[in-house]
Amino acid sequence: MAKIVLVLYDDPVDGYPTSYARDDCPQPEIYPDGQTLPTPNAIDFVPGALLGSVSGELGLRKYLEANGHELIVTSSKDGEDSVLDRELHDAEIIISQPFWPAYMTAERIAKAKKLKMIVTAGIGSDHTDLQAAIENNITVSEVTYCNSNAVAEHVVMSILALVRNFIPSHNWVLKGGWNIADCVSRSYDLEAMSVGTVAAGRIGLRVLRLLKAFGVKLHYMDRHRLPETVEQELDLTYHSTLESLAKVCDVVTLNCPLHPETEHMINEESLKWFKRGAYLVNTARGKLADRDAVVAALESGQLAGYAGDVWFPQPAPQDHPWRSMPNHGMTPHISGTSLSAQTRYAAGTREILECYFEGRPIRDEYLIVQGGQLAGVGAHSYSKGNATGGSEEAAKFKK
Ligand code: NAD
Repeated sequence: MAKIVLVLYDDPVDGYPTSYARDDCPQPEIYPDGQTLPTPNAIDFVPGALLGSVSGELGLRKYLEANGHELIVTSSKDGEDSVLDRELHDAEIIISQPFWPAYMTAERIAKAKKLKMIVTAGIGSDHTDLQAAIENNITVSEVTYCNSNAVAEHVVMSILALVRNFIPSHNWVLKGGWNIADCVSRSYDLEAMSVGTVAAGRIGLRVLRLLKAFGVKLHYMDRHRLPETVEQELDLTYHSTLESLAKVCDVVTLNCPLHPETEHMINEESLKWFKRGAYLVNTARGKLADRDAVVAALESGQLAGYAGDVWFPQPAPQDHPWRSMPNHGMTPHISGTSLSAQTRYAAGTREILECYFEGRPIRDEYLIVQGGQLAGVGAHSYSKGNATGGSEEAAKFKK
């Protein structure tokens, strides 16, 4: 029987919810490219419930214990005295969400002698040292598509919030003011701007489709070019480099995974390619951007705004400069963990576990590493190597 360690974020400060804002939680029937939603044999949770925090347990306890497995659920994940570190030595499966990632470094993988699989309940497996997983024949899987559209909604919201100067204007209301001139002296229309996405995978393409209605000029770069029919349908301009895209865009949004090729692609040098006053929205991964270069670009006015929900490390230390830099629209990492998305990735995690324990193949689109190599989505969207360096700083976050 297996031991599974499930690392989840803490319950709300006022306790686990006993009721919710809505009575139902509508779900799409199918994803835009025809991929089906998760298909576990059963679920043991109510769709729309808070599943991603410790008491929610991703709805997995009943299923796992009924099959004789041991389930450890904890939010304690950073520092050598963490529950995760204490439980690693005989764990067969580690599950965590990118919002509160269990950084599975080479050191941790070396300590976990019985480890067979690392599951991302969500999308983005950069918190695992993929090179170490490859070398130790550990399967890495994630629930592809579960929150791609949710994130795209957050991207569009963030772009509008920055360009229209929504957050400072809202703050004037809270302060009892009516300071229209203060609000609008940084407010523009998105219409007619040029917007570019770095990567046009599931999230990036959805962003392009959603933005089409705003009358913007659309640009993208990706290591895989979209079909010509899609480029024509959306009137897209393709760029083979970030430099070429950044030079013509008023808004740039990052939607690629974090891996050695993309780490710190936004840095002091590449920010010089951007138009003065460009907006940058990053809901992909914090480490795609050099932390201090972003702050400097906002302070100098090279960037007019920066928004997103991803930081490095996570949780971000109290003194992380992105908490206090000018003209930002940051949230904690929430875009992919709406209650709607939790329903899908809890079901997808259950599907992956059922496949694993029943000896059935895990869907190709859920695979990042298998059999000692990048596989499935991992082979399409990642490169070999490790992007977890510096993650030990997450231990600095103190509640
Ligand atoms: P996807 O696999 O569908 O798309 C990724 C795209 O990135 C692919 O088209 C790939 O070709 C492209 N790409 C990879 N390396 C590249 C490079 N060096 N240059 C240009 N393009 C490159 O994945 P997705 O569902 O669109 O998700 C993308 C990423 O967004 C995830 O890996 C994750 O890091 C992040 N994400 C964040 C949240 C959140 O809650 N904020 C949720 C889901 C995903």
